[in-house]
Amino acid sequence: MKKIAILGSTGSIGTQALDLCRRHPDRYRVTALTARSSREKLFEQVREFRPEMAGLLETFDPADIPEDLKFCHWMTGPEALKAAAAEVDADQVLVSIVGIAGLRSVMDALEAGRQVLLANKEALVTGGHLVTDLARKKGRPLLPVDSEHSAIFQCLRAADGNPAEKILLTASGGPFRTWNREQIEKATPRDALKHPNWNMGAKITVDSASMFNKGLEIMEARWLFDMPEEQIQVVVHPESIVHSAVVFRDGAVLAQLGQPDMRVPIGYAMAFPERLETGVMPPDLFALGALTFEKPDEEKFPALRLAKEALRAGGAACTVFNGANEEAVAAFLREEIPFGGIARRVEKALDSLAGLKADCLEDILEADRRARETVRSYAE
Ligand code: NAD
Ligand code: MG
Repeated sequence: MKKIAILGSTGSIGTQALDLCRRHPDRYRVTALTARSSREKLFEQVREFRPEMAGLLETFDPADIPEDLKFCHWMTGPEALKAAAAEVDADQVLVSIVGIAGLRSVMDALEAGRQVLLANKEALVTGGHLVTDLARKKGRPLLPVDSEHSAIFQCLRAADGNPAEKILLTASGGPFRTWNREQIEKATPRDALKHPNWNMGAKITVDSASMFNKGLEIMEARWLFDMPEEQIQVVVHPESIVHSAVVFRDGAVLAQLGQPDMRVPIGYAMAFPERLETGVMPPDLFALGALTFEKPDEEKFPALRLAKEALRAGGAACTVFNGANEEAVAAFLREEIPFGGIARRVEKALDSLAGLKADCLEDILEADRRARETVRSYAE
Protein backbone atom coordinates (compact mmCIF):
# COMPACT_ATOMS: atom_id res chain seq x y z
CA MET A 1 0.00 0.00 0.00
CA LYS A 2 1.50 3.36 -1.06
CA LYS A 3 0.57 6.58 0.71
CA ILE A 4 0.17 9.46 -1.70
CA ALA A 5 -0.19 13.23 -1.16
CA ILE A 6 -1.66 15.19 -4.09
CA LEU A 7 -0.97 18.91 -4.43
CA GLY A 8 -3.43 20.48 -6.86
CA SER A 9 -5.93 17.62 -6.56
CA THR A 10 -8.84 19.51 -8.13
CA GLY A 11 -7.03 20.17 -11.42
CA SER A 12 -6.78 18.16 -14.61
CA ILE A 13 -3.77 16.05 -13.47
CA GLY A 14 -4.97 15.82 -9.85
CA THR A 15 -8.41 14.45 -10.72
CA GLN A 16 -6.93 11.89 -13.13
CA ALA A 17 -4.51 10.73 -10.42
CA LEU A 18 -7.48 10.31 -8.08
CA ASP A 19 -9.24 8.34 -10.79
CA LEU A 20 -6.33 5.87 -10.64
CA CYS A 21 -6.48 5.79 -6.81
CA ARG A 22 -10.21 5.01 -7.12
CA ARG A 23 -9.43 2.12 -9.48
CA HIS A 24 -6.78 0.71 -7.15
CA PRO A 25 -7.99 1.15 -3.57
CA ASP A 26 -5.85 -1.83 -2.52
CA ARG A 27 -2.66 -0.07 -3.70
CA TYR A 28 -3.07 3.63 -2.84
CA ARG A 29 -4.10 5.48 0.25
CA VAL A 30 -4.52 9.24 -0.18
CA THR A 31 -3.12 11.08 2.85
CA ALA A 32 -3.27 14.74 1.74
CA LEU A 33 -5.16 16.81 -0.83
CA THR A 34 -4.77 20.51 -1.65
CA ALA A 35 -6.46 23.03 -3.97
CA ARG A 36 -6.26 26.75 -4.59
CA SER A 37 -9.90 27.81 -4.42
CA SER A 38 -12.29 25.12 -5.71
CA ARG A 39 -13.58 24.20 -2.28
CA GLU A 40 -16.75 22.31 -3.29
CA LYS A 41 -14.71 19.98 -5.45
CA LEU A 42 -12.16 19.53 -2.67
CA PHE A 43 -14.97 18.76 -0.18
CA GLU A 44 -16.23 16.02 -2.49
CA GLN A 45 -12.73 14.56 -2.84
CA VAL A 46 -12.15 14.59 0.93
CA ARG A 47 -15.51 12.88 1.44
CA GLU A 48 -14.52 10.13 -0.98
CA PHE A 49 -10.81 9.61 -0.23
CA ARG A 50 -10.73 10.52 3.49
CA PRO A 51 -7.19 11.98 3.68
CA GLU A 52 -5.62 12.91 7.01
CA MET A 53 -5.08 16.47 5.89
CA ALA A 54 -6.62 18.86 3.34
CA GLY A 55 -5.53 22.34 2.36
CA LEU A 56 -7.07 25.31 0.61
CA LEU A 57 -4.68 28.04 -0.47
CA GLU A 58 -7.50 30.56 -0.26
CA THR A 59 -8.43 31.50 3.32
CA PHE A 60 -11.70 30.11 4.61
CA ASP A 61 -13.78 30.18 7.75
CA PRO A 62 -13.43 26.87 9.67
CA ALA A 63 -17.20 27.06 10.17
CA ASP A 64 -17.56 26.51 6.40
CA ILE A 65 -16.18 22.98 6.65
CA PRO A 66 -19.12 20.55 6.45
CA GLU A 67 -19.74 18.61 9.66
CA ASP A 68 -18.98 15.21 8.09
CA LEU A 69 -15.54 16.43 6.90
CA LYS A 70 -14.26 17.52 10.29
CA PHE A 71 -12.40 14.22 10.77
CA CYS A 72 -9.77 15.71 8.43
CA HIS A 73 -7.14 18.27 9.52
CA TRP A 74 -7.92 21.42 7.50
CA MET A 75 -5.22 23.99 6.75
CA THR A 76 -4.95 27.17 4.69
CA GLY A 77 -2.29 29.28 2.96
CA PRO A 78 1.28 28.28 2.07
CA GLU A 79 1.58 26.25 5.32
CA ALA A 80 -1.02 23.90 3.90
CA LEU A 81 1.15 23.20 0.84
CA LYS A 82 4.19 22.72 3.06
CA ALA A 83 2.34 20.26 5.30
CA ALA A 84 1.03 18.26 2.35
CA ALA A 85 4.47 18.15 0.70
CA ALA A 86 6.61 17.37 3.71
CA GLU A 87 4.77 16.77 6.97
CA VAL A 88 1.85 14.46 6.32
CA ASP A 89 2.81 10.78 6.21
CA ALA A 90 3.33 9.91 2.51
CA ASP A 91 5.64 7.84 0.32
CA GLN A 92 4.85 9.82 -2.81
CA VAL A 93 4.00 13.46 -3.42
CA LEU A 94 2.34 14.32 -6.73
CA VAL A 95 3.05 17.99 -7.46
CA SER A 96 0.31 18.95 -9.89
CA ILE A 97 -0.21 22.61 -9.05
CA VAL A 98 0.30 25.23 -11.78
CA GLY A 99 3.18 27.65 -12.07
CA ILE A 100 6.27 28.57 -10.08
CA ALA A 101 4.31 27.85 -6.87
CA GLY A 102 5.37 24.25 -7.51
CA LEU A 103 9.07 24.96 -6.97
CA ARG A 104 8.90 25.37 -3.21
CA SER A 105 6.65 22.32 -2.85
CA VAL A 106 9.04 20.13 -4.85
CA MET A 107 11.98 21.31 -2.71
CA ASP A 108 10.00 20.71 0.52
CA ALA A 109 8.97 17.21 -0.56
CA LEU A 110 12.52 16.26 -1.59
CA GLU A 111 13.96 17.71 1.60
CA ALA A 112 11.57 15.47 3.56
CA GLY A 113 12.81 12.43 1.60
CA ARG A 114 9.60 11.92 -0.39
CA GLN A 115 9.38 10.40 -3.85
CA VAL A 116 8.30 13.29 -6.10
CA LEU A 117 5.96 12.60 -9.02
CA LEU A 118 6.47 15.73 -11.06
CA ALA A 119 3.72 17.19 -13.22
CA ASN A 120 4.65 20.79 -12.43
CA LYS A 121 7.27 21.52 -15.12
CA GLU A 122 7.76 25.08 -13.86
CA ALA A 123 9.74 23.75 -10.87
CA LEU A 124 12.46 22.48 -13.24
CA VAL A 125 12.19 25.42 -15.63
CA THR A 126 12.85 27.92 -12.87
CA GLY A 127 14.90 25.97 -10.34
CA GLY A 128 16.21 23.00 -12.35
CA HIS A 129 19.70 23.08 -10.85
CA LEU A 130 18.45 23.36 -7.25
CA VAL A 131 15.83 20.63 -7.68
CA THR A 132 18.08 18.13 -9.48
CA ASP A 133 20.96 18.73 -7.01
CA LEU A 134 18.68 18.09 -4.06
CA ALA A 135 17.11 15.01 -5.68
CA ARG A 136 20.60 13.62 -6.28
CA LYS A 137 21.72 14.42 -2.75
CA LYS A 138 18.67 12.69 -1.32
CA GLY A 139 18.99 9.71 -3.68
CA ARG A 140 15.40 10.32 -4.81
CA PRO A 141 15.31 10.80 -8.60
CA LEU A 142 12.24 12.66 -9.87
CA LEU A 143 9.59 10.64 -11.66
CA PRO A 144 8.25 12.64 -14.61
CA VAL A 145 4.51 12.86 -15.21
CA ASP A 146 4.60 15.11 -18.28
CA SER A 147 3.77 12.72 -21.14
CA GLU A 148 6.83 13.51 -23.29
CA HIS A 149 9.23 13.22 -20.38
CA SER A 150 7.61 10.03 -19.19
CA ALA A 151 8.13 8.66 -22.72
CA ILE A 152 11.81 9.69 -22.75
CA PHE A 153 12.28 8.26 -19.25
CA GLN A 154 10.79 4.95 -20.39
CA CYS A 155 12.98 4.84 -23.54
CA LEU A 156 16.11 5.63 -21.54
CA ARG A 157 15.47 2.62 -19.31
CA ALA A 158 16.30 0.51 -22.34
CA ALA A 159 19.63 2.32 -22.90
CA ASP A 160 21.53 -0.07 -20.62
CA GLY A 161 24.14 2.54 -19.85
CA ASN A 162 24.61 3.64 -23.48
CA PRO A 163 24.51 7.42 -23.83
CA ALA A 164 21.61 8.94 -25.73
CA GLU A 165 22.69 11.03 -28.73
CA LYS A 166 19.54 13.05 -29.01
CA ILE A 167 16.04 13.48 -27.67
CA LEU A 168 13.13 13.87 -30.10
CA LEU A 169 10.52 15.85 -28.18
CA THR A 170 7.17 15.54 -29.92
CA ALA A 171 4.58 18.34 -30.03
CA SER A 172 1.03 18.21 -31.36
CA GLY A 173 1.47 21.66 -32.92
CA GLY A 174 -1.74 22.80 -31.19
CA PRO A 175 -4.85 24.30 -32.77
CA PHE A 176 -2.90 26.92 -34.81
CA ARG A 177 -0.50 24.55 -36.55
CA THR A 178 -2.05 25.19 -39.96
CA TRP A 179 -2.96 28.87 -39.37
CA ASN A 180 -0.93 31.70 -40.89
CA ARG A 181 0.83 34.42 -38.91
CA GLU A 182 -1.95 36.98 -39.28
CA GLN A 183 -4.58 34.52 -38.09
CA ILE A 184 -2.43 33.47 -35.13
CA GLU A 185 -1.83 37.12 -34.17
CA LYS A 186 -5.58 37.65 -33.81
CA ALA A 187 -6.55 34.30 -32.24
CA THR A 188 -9.03 34.58 -29.34
CA PRO A 189 -8.99 32.72 -25.98
CA ARG A 190 -11.81 30.54 -27.34
CA ASP A 191 -9.63 29.52 -30.30
CA ALA A 192 -6.60 28.88 -28.08
CA LEU A 193 -8.53 26.80 -25.55
CA LYS A 194 -9.59 24.27 -28.20
CA HIS A 195 -6.80 21.70 -28.08
CA PRO A 196 -7.09 19.06 -30.82
CA ASN A 197 -5.93 16.05 -28.72
CA TRP A 198 -5.41 16.71 -25.03
CA ASN A 199 -7.86 17.84 -22.37
CA MET A 200 -5.84 19.98 -19.91
CA GLY A 201 -5.97 23.03 -17.61
CA ALA A 202 -6.38 26.49 -19.23
CA LYS A 203 -2.82 27.77 -18.80
CA ILE A 204 -1.11 24.74 -20.39
CA THR A 205 -3.72 24.66 -23.18
CA VAL A 206 -2.86 28.23 -24.19
CA ASP A 207 0.83 27.32 -23.91
CA SER A 208 0.24 24.42 -26.29
CA ALA A 209 -1.31 26.78 -28.84
CA SER A 210 1.65 29.20 -28.64
CA MET A 211 4.19 26.36 -28.31
CA PHE A 212 5.46 27.98 -25.11
CA ASN A 213 4.59 24.63 -23.56
CA LYS A 214 7.18 22.96 -25.79
CA GLY A 215 9.68 25.69 -24.87
CA LEU A 216 9.09 24.91 -21.19
CA GLU A 217 9.42 21.20 -21.96
CA ILE A 218 12.81 21.67 -23.64
CA MET A 219 13.95 23.24 -20.36
CA GLU A 220 12.32 20.44 -18.36
CA ALA A 221 14.10 17.79 -20.48
CA ARG A 222 17.41 19.62 -20.15
CA TRP A 223 17.28 19.15 -16.36
CA LEU A 224 15.56 15.78 -16.08
CA PHE A 225 17.92 14.06 -18.50
CA ASP A 226 20.97 16.31 -18.19
CA MET A 227 20.85 16.90 -21.94
CA PRO A 228 22.18 20.08 -23.57
CA GLU A 229 19.62 22.09 -25.52
CA GLU A 230 21.39 21.41 -28.90
CA GLN A 231 20.62 17.71 -28.48
CA ILE A 232 16.89 18.22 -27.99
CA GLN A 233 14.93 18.35 -31.25
CA VAL A 234 11.26 19.32 -31.30
CA VAL A 235 9.24 17.25 -33.79
CA VAL A 236 5.68 18.26 -34.64
CA HIS A 237 3.46 15.18 -34.61
CA PRO A 238 -0.22 16.15 -34.89
CA GLU A 239 -1.67 12.74 -33.93
CA SER A 240 -0.03 12.80 -30.43
CA ILE A 241 0.53 9.04 -30.47
CA VAL A 242 4.34 9.02 -30.34
CA HIS A 243 4.96 10.75 -27.01
CA SER A 244 8.69 11.28 -27.66
CA ALA A 245 11.76 9.29 -28.70
CA VAL A 246 15.47 8.84 -28.00
CA VAL A 247 18.19 8.45 -30.64
CA PHE A 248 21.27 6.24 -30.00
CA ARG A 249 24.62 6.26 -31.76
CA ASP A 250 23.99 3.04 -33.70
CA GLY A 251 21.14 4.77 -35.53
CA ALA A 252 18.41 3.17 -33.44
CA VAL A 253 15.49 5.32 -32.31
CA LEU A 254 13.34 4.18 -29.39
CA ALA A 255 9.92 5.76 -29.03
CA GLN A 256 7.00 5.33 -26.65
CA LEU A 257 3.48 5.25 -28.12
CA GLY A 258 0.06 5.51 -26.53
CA GLN A 259 -3.25 7.30 -26.62
CA PRO A 260 -3.14 10.96 -25.62
CA ASP A 261 -4.45 10.21 -22.14
CA MET A 262 -2.53 11.48 -19.11
CA ARG A 263 -3.63 8.57 -16.94
CA VAL A 264 -0.90 6.48 -18.62
CA PRO A 265 2.09 8.66 -17.63
CA ILE A 266 0.51 9.51 -14.25
CA GLY A 267 0.00 5.79 -13.55
CA TYR A 268 3.52 4.96 -14.71
CA ALA A 269 4.98 7.43 -12.19
CA MET A 270 2.65 6.26 -9.41
CA ALA A 271 3.44 2.55 -9.78
CA PHE A 272 7.03 2.78 -11.06
CA PRO A 273 8.61 0.39 -11.96
CA GLU A 274 5.39 -1.56 -12.25
CA ARG A 275 2.58 -0.81 -14.70
CA LEU A 276 -0.96 -0.22 -13.54
CA GLU A 277 -4.22 -1.05 -15.20
CA THR A 278 -5.32 2.49 -16.16
CA GLY A 279 -8.53 1.96 -18.10
CA VAL A 280 -6.79 3.33 -21.22
CA MET A 281 -6.74 1.19 -24.37
CA PRO A 282 -3.58 1.02 -26.50
CA PRO A 283 -3.81 2.97 -29.77
CA ASP A 284 -5.44 1.11 -32.66
CA LEU A 285 -2.70 1.33 -35.30
CA PHE A 286 -4.96 -0.03 -38.04
CA ALA A 287 -7.54 2.67 -37.33
CA LEU A 288 -4.79 5.33 -37.29
CA GLY A 289 -3.29 4.10 -40.57
CA ALA A 290 -0.51 6.72 -40.70
CA LEU A 291 1.49 8.90 -38.34
CA THR A 292 2.92 12.22 -39.56
CA PHE A 293 5.90 14.32 -38.52
CA GLU A 294 6.86 17.91 -39.39
CA LYS A 295 9.59 20.41 -38.61
CA PRO A 296 8.40 23.14 -36.22
CA ASP A 297 7.89 26.59 -37.76
CA GLU A 298 9.91 28.94 -35.55
CA GLU A 299 8.74 32.00 -37.48
CA LYS A 300 5.11 31.36 -36.61
CA PHE A 301 5.95 30.10 -33.12
CA PRO A 302 8.84 32.16 -31.66
CA ALA A 303 8.54 30.35 -28.30
CA LEU A 304 10.99 27.62 -29.33
CA ARG A 305 13.71 30.07 -30.34
CA LEU A 306 13.16 32.13 -27.18
CA ALA A 307 13.35 29.01 -24.99
CA LYS A 308 16.67 27.97 -26.49
CA GLU A 309 18.03 31.50 -26.14
CA ALA A 310 16.98 31.57 -22.49
CA LEU A 311 18.65 28.22 -21.82
CA ARG A 312 21.88 29.43 -23.44
CA ALA A 313 21.77 32.70 -21.49
CA GLY A 314 21.59 30.79 -18.16
CA GLY A 315 21.17 32.58 -14.82
CA ALA A 316 17.51 33.39 -14.26
CA ALA A 317 16.62 33.71 -17.97
CA CYS A 318 14.38 30.62 -17.94
CA THR A 319 12.59 31.99 -14.87
CA VAL A 320 12.04 35.27 -16.72
CA PHE A 321 10.77 33.31 -19.75
CA ASN A 322 8.32 31.44 -17.52
CA GLY A 323 7.15 34.37 -15.37
CA ALA A 324 6.73 36.71 -18.34
CA ASN A 325 4.75 34.03 -20.18
CA GLU A 326 2.50 33.28 -17.17
CA GLU A 327 1.71 36.96 -16.81
CA ALA A 328 1.12 37.45 -20.55
CA VAL A 329 -1.12 34.36 -20.78
CA ALA A 330 -3.24 35.69 -17.90
CA ALA A 331 -3.60 39.04 -19.73
CA PHE A 332 -4.49 37.22 -22.95
CA LEU A 333 -7.17 35.16 -21.16
CA ARG A 334 -8.61 38.43 -19.76
CA GLU A 335 -8.71 39.60 -23.41
CA GLU A 336 -6.36 42.52 -22.69
CA ILE A 337 -3.67 41.60 -25.22
CA PRO A 338 -3.64 39.78 -28.58
CA PHE A 339 -2.32 36.24 -28.86
CA GLY A 340 0.77 37.45 -30.73
CA GLY A 341 1.46 39.80 -27.82
CA ILE A 342 2.39 36.88 -25.56
CA ALA A 343 5.65 36.06 -27.37
CA ARG A 344 6.46 39.76 -27.90
CA ARG A 345 6.19 40.40 -24.15
CA VAL A 346 8.38 37.43 -23.27
CA GLU A 347 11.04 38.51 -25.78
CA LYS A 348 11.05 42.07 -24.44
CA ALA A 349 11.25 40.88 -20.84
CA LEU A 350 14.17 38.56 -21.67
CA ASP A 351 16.01 41.51 -23.27
CA SER A 352 15.41 43.97 -20.48
CA LEU A 353 16.06 41.56 -17.59
CA ALA A 354 19.23 39.90 -18.92
CA GLY A 355 21.87 38.86 -16.39
CA LEU A 356 19.71 38.18 -13.31
CA LYS A 357 21.17 35.42 -11.15
CA ALA A 358 19.47 32.25 -9.90
CA ASP A 359 21.82 30.97 -7.21
CA CYS A 360 19.14 30.24 -4.63
CA LEU A 361 15.37 30.04 -4.24
CA GLU A 362 15.13 33.72 -3.22
CA ASP A 363 16.98 34.82 -6.40
CA ILE A 364 14.56 32.79 -8.50
CA LEU A 365 11.45 34.14 -6.79
CA GLU A 366 12.83 37.67 -7.18
CA ALA A 367 13.51 37.15 -10.91
CA ASP A 368 9.97 35.80 -11.29
CA ARG A 369 8.53 38.83 -9.50
CA ARG A 370 10.52 41.22 -11.70
CA ALA A 371 9.50 39.42 -14.90
CA ARG A 372 5.82 39.72 -13.99
CA GLU A 373 6.12 43.34 -12.94
CA THR A 374 7.97 44.16 -16.19
CA VAL A 375 5.32 42.49 -18.33
CA ARG A 376 2.51 44.26 -16.46
CA SER A 377 4.17 47.61 -17.21
CA TYR A 378 4.03 47.11 -21.01
CA ALA A 379 1.36 49.11 -22.82
CA GLU A 380 1.76 46.93 -25.94
P1 NAD B 1 -5.18 22.82 -13.55
O1 NAD B 1 -5.32 24.29 -13.68
O2 NAD B 1 -6.20 21.95 -14.14
O3 NAD B 1 -5.08 22.46 -11.98
C1 NAD B 1 -4.19 23.06 -11.10
C2 NAD B 1 -4.39 22.61 -9.65
O4 NAD B 1 -3.49 23.32 -8.80
C3 NAD B 1 -5.77 22.89 -9.09
O5 NAD B 1 -6.09 21.92 -8.10
C4 NAD B 1 -5.62 24.27 -8.42
O6 NAD B 1 -6.55 24.45 -7.38
C5 NAD B 1 -4.19 24.19 -7.89
N1 NAD B 1 -3.47 25.46 -7.91
C6 NAD B 1 -3.43 26.37 -8.91
N2 NAD B 1 -2.60 27.38 -8.59
C7 NAD B 1 -2.10 27.11 -7.38
C8 NAD B 1 -1.20 27.81 -6.52
N3 NAD B 1 -0.67 28.99 -6.83
N4 NAD B 1 -0.89 27.22 -5.33
C9 NAD B 1 -1.45 26.04 -4.98
N5 NAD B 1 -2.31 25.36 -5.75
C10 NAD B 1 -2.63 25.89 -6.93
O7 NAD B 1 -3.72 22.45 -14.08
P2 NAD B 1 -3.22 21.10 -14.78
O8 NAD B 1 -3.52 21.15 -16.22
O9 NAD B 1 -3.64 19.94 -13.96
O10 NAD B 1 -1.64 21.28 -14.66
C11 NAD B 1 -0.92 21.10 -13.44
C12 NAD B 1 0.57 21.05 -13.75
O11 NAD B 1 0.83 19.88 -14.53
C13 NAD B 1 1.09 22.23 -14.57
O12 NAD B 1 2.38 22.54 -14.16
C14 NAD B 1 1.11 21.70 -16.00
O13 NAD B 1 2.08 22.32 -16.80
C15 NAD B 1 1.46 20.24 -15.76
N6 NAD B 1 1.01 19.33 -16.82
C16 NAD B 1 -0.32 19.18 -17.07
C17 NAD B 1 -0.75 18.33 -18.08
C18 NAD B 1 -2.22 18.12 -18.34
O14 NAD B 1 -2.56 17.27 -19.14
N7 NAD B 1 -3.11 18.83 -17.72
C19 NAD B 1 0.19 17.63 -18.83
C20 NAD B 1 1.54 17.79 -18.55
C21 NAD B 1 1.94 18.65 -17.53
MG1 MG C 1 3.73 17.59 -22.15
